[in-house]
Amino acid sequence: VQRRQYTPAEYVEGILKGNITILSQAVTLVESAKHEHQQIAQEIIEKCLPYAGKSMRIGITGVPGAGKSTSIDVFGMHLLKKGHKLAVLAIDPSSERSKGSILGDKTRMETLSREKDAFIRPSPSAGSLGGVARKTRETIILCEAAGFDTVFVETVGVGQSETAVHSMVDFFLLIQLAGTGDELQGIKRGIMEMADGIIINKADGDNVDKAQMAASQFRNALHLFPPTESGWTPKVLTYSGYYNIGVKEIWDMIDEYMAFTKKNGYFEYKRREQAKYWMYESINDTLRDTFYNNPAVSSMLNQTEQQVLQNEITPFVAAKRMMDLFLGDISSSK
Ligand code: GDP
Repeated sequence: VQRRQYTPAEYVEGILKGNITILSQAVTLVESAKHEHQQIAQEIIEKCLPYAGKSMRIGITGVPGAGKSTSIDVFGMHLLKKGHKLAVLAIDPSSERSKGSILGDKTRMETLSREKDAFIRPSPSAGSLGGVARKTRETIILCEAAGFDTVFVETVGVGQSETAVHSMVDFFLLIQLAGTGDELQGIKRGIMEMADGIIINKADGDNVDKAQMAASQFRNALHLFPPTESGWTPKVLTYSGYYNIGVKEIWDMIDEYMAFTKKNGYFEYKRREQAKYWMYESINDTLRDTFYNNPAVSSMLNQTEQQVLQNEITPFVAAKRMMDLFLGDISSSK
């Protein structure tokens, strides 16, 4: 079936009216690697920008099995009942490798996916973390322009993607499980340091005591961290996503954080810092791509690498040669 091509203005009009079909198609353009799609996408994003920025952006992370999809389903329904509109996005750079994304998959959030006020979009697949993250960040803008006042960005808590998520959300929520007594093991300190709230899931049945013990361990550990830039003291709560226990308290915490950081100016400050961060990320990405895609560079790269491996030249001389080659090439092609 031939899909009708909208003009950028028509896309924007549809998005602003909250038309989900048009929103989805625009997100597809954002995610596309094709140059002509990117051009339209950038125009749509730019026109949506004045209508964006008003949502509460929340990052949610946790290892597979921590209960992210169960929790997001329940959190989402909690928000919808309060009259919110929710977009659920994801960053999962591994999604291409594993064929079909682990995150943001519709079937994972069964209740929520049937709701008209919820928009669930799997992680953009393919590409570098930077590329995937950028697409998600741009999708946030479109969702906000479409009237979604709450945005979740989900990521699997195993690596670098947390930093990317942290750089695009207002509140960063870490889902943890009570384990065998050494809860703090295996959690990267960096991820904990990013968290504005740590929530211990599966605090139900026999697990309640263990979850509470884990919570106090986390509280103790957090005391050892330097004070946060926001002035907010990260909180540790226990809950059960499955049995819907303690969910209201989590949202009270997030509301409290929003009020606190809006009052002390940190909310706005962080949004501006994030915009700055993404500008430099974008410059860095473009520089890297231009460099490595440059024909003069790519024709010599292997050979130069070999010389370094054979100890014939130092890495620094090699790097300088490649840079000179690149700079010479672009100035001569002007
Ligand atoms: P994800 O991989 O982080 O998205 O985790 P899921 O939401 O798929 O949950 C993993 C498993 O934990 C599933 O079998 C869930 O039914 C179970 N689970 C999730 N939340 C809870 C909870 O609050 N209590 C209990 N007992 N099990 C839960």
